[in-house]
Amino acid sequence: MALPTPDTLAPGAALGVLRNVTSIDGASGDRAVVDGTVSTAVDDIAGSDGVDAGGWLLLPPLADMHAHIDKAYTWEMAGRPAGSLEDAVACWQRFGAGLSERQIATHARRALMAALRAGVTTMRTHVNFHEGADPLRGLRAVVALREEFSGLVDLQVVAMHGHLHESALVREAIALGADLLGGAPHLSPDPVAEMDRTVALAEEAGIGVDLHTDETLDPHSLDIVYLSRITAHWPADRTRSAGHCVSLAVQPREALDEILGTAAAAGVSIITNPLTNLYLQGWEHHVATPRAIPPLHAIRAAGVALAAGGDNVQDPFNPLGNGDMVDVAAALVIAGHLSPAEAWQVASAGRSLLGLPPAAGEHGDIADMLLVRASSVAEALAERAPDRVVVRAGRVVATRRLSTAVVDIDTYSAKEITV
Ligand SMILES: [Zn+2]
Repeated sequence: MALPTPDTLAPGAALGVLRNVTSIDGASGDRAVVDGTVSTAVDDIAGSDGVDAGGWLLLPPLADMHAHIDKAYTWEMAGRPAGSLEDAVACWQRFGAGLSERQIATHARRALMAALRAGVTTMRTHVNFHEGADPLRGLRAVVALREEFSGLVDLQVVAMHGHLHESALVREAIALGADLLGGAPHLSPDPVAEMDRTVALAEEAGIGVDLHTDETLDPHSLDIVYLSRITAHWPADRTRSAGHCVSLAVQPREALDEILGTAAAAGVSIITNPLTNLYLQGWEHHVATPRAIPPLHAIRAAGVALAAGGDNVQDPFNPLGNGDMVDVAAALVIAGHLSPAEAWQVASAGRSLLGLPPAAGEHGDIADMLLVRASSVAEALAERAPDRVVVRAGRVVATRRLSTAVVDIDTYSAKEITV
């Protein structure tokens, strides 16, 4: 009797044995889940014949390491702003002032559900200090969601303050449960002073930082170098991430090597956000529009930890984001020139930045995985992996399937169309 296929798995199902599944390196074999971990010693396991996963890939689950779930799904509401970073920031400051904690929670929950269905089991989200009264309302909403999604999406929360916010308010945000301190020093009149303050506040609380860094095509913006200098003495396991790093895309080669060497020595990781930066940057360049993506191969070659984020989901900063890291990985190939396998690695690298155990489907790994119907990683990215099964600790937590219907092309006749 034929075994059932992964199509038949429903949320809540416990995974037993997977037959004929293909791993990211193209090798085919069997896997079992024992006590929430992966075993390759399948023959020793009595009982169920399991699921026939022939034609399916077992891939590491995705990690969205730069999200803004407090802003998600607001592009239409915010009045469809024009496309530059400056336009988006100004629009958000106007529009965000009127958002209530409940509205923010509704949008953020929808974004987390979209991510989970896509196979994103790790996420780092920035949360603004919102305009208007009660600037920490977004942070409260997202911290509550971190509990609600525990065991489904491991959520790290970054309190993203601005240079105008008093240090007392920043301390209050950290006390609410922020995991990391954020900010965008390049938007401040004195980026160096703002980075000094942010790092001092993080040190005082014993937490790490993830800063929006050099999100500009101006080659003189090199906050990443200063951030590296002032965090180099931190313990190795304390996060210091630089998000965006757009200005690395326009450095001369020798300067780039020196900058990346400094970042690598300091343990600074880089989070690239290709979709948002392709959208937000370069509006003033009517021809030869720059891609605004940092040089990914050079970053990896320098030994700097590289991860990726989806950044914006249908908000003033990108009307088309959807929280699906498969789209981000595809952009890392097409616009960033990584190979499909490298792109999947980067799109799932956030696990290690969070200190989570490996989930590559190897013997002894935790049984967190994404099953995708495809014959190769390239096909999975090209087709955007319409059929997926998301597994946490050996249990199915989400599925998605493409359903289409086409007329019978053997019997269909154009003559039947009457206009
Ligand atoms: Zn951002």
